[in-house]
Amino acid sequence: TAEQTTYKRVLLKISGEALMGDQGYGLHPPTVERIAQEVKSVSDLGVEICMVIGGGNIFRGLVGSAQGMERTTADYMGMLATVMNALAMQSALEGLGVYTRVISAITMNEVAEPYIRRRAVRHLEKKRVCIFAAGTGNPYFTTDTAATLRANEMACEAIFMGKNGVDGVYDCDPKTNPDAKRYDSVTFDEVLGKNLKVMDASAIALARDNRKPIIVFSLDEPGGFLGILAGKGTYTKVH
Ligand code: UDP
Repeated sequence: TAEQTTYKRVLLKISGEALMGDQGYGLHPPTVERIAQEVKSVSDLGVEICMVIGGGNIFRGLVGSAQGMERTTADYMGMLATVMNALAMQSALEGLGVYTRVISAITMNEVAEPYIRRRAVRHLEKKRVCIFAAGTGNPYFTTDTAATLRANEMACEAIFMGKNGVDGVYDCDPKTNPDAKRYDSVTFDEVLGKNLKVMDASAIALARDNRKPIIVFSLDEPGGFLGILAGKGTYTKVH
């Protein structure tokens, strides 16, 4: 049965941990390939796809800085981790026959294209999946902020936050509280006011100020991304 969607251009954000499987660290190739398959099924519908992948499966700036490393240096290491994840995703997508570009916010011409907005838009128009790497290119930010920034710049209709082990935004942690209630829909102000776990506050504020809806859904179910784009399954819309 062919899925249908009205979306033309979207951004998929996943954390670095989404790529590590149950290993606890690094990259788990079968898991990377499974997510690549999710992306391919949506790309096959003609939807233009931007991706932002975190780096937490390899290195997080805050952890490095807590261990005594200078904060900005640690953050640059975190950004470099996202480049490795982006290259792994590119390789998996290419293995499935999907055309991709890795576009880095930190110039490293031998490895990835530099970020040039108009060029990235052109890639999307040609149906190439654009994987935006190195976050925003600035320390003290996260890849959630990078996702919101690129979704704004690329005029994506929505940000899709693919989660592991949770299918939306809850009023408290569903893993520890059996009475936790999932929101079908919640406003940016409510997320900020109640400190709900969606994205960090600067990323939420950037989405709110540019009216960019965020759809939080689970990446655990095969076909989940395609289903959510077609309006099926459970999710939370932050708007
Ligand atoms: N980072 C940064 N600026 C950015 C994006 C990321 O400094 O614009 C660094 C930061 O140290 C962060 C690390 O890269 O801890 C990995 O990104 P993130 O924690 O967002 O990854 P995720 O939690 O999504 O796996």
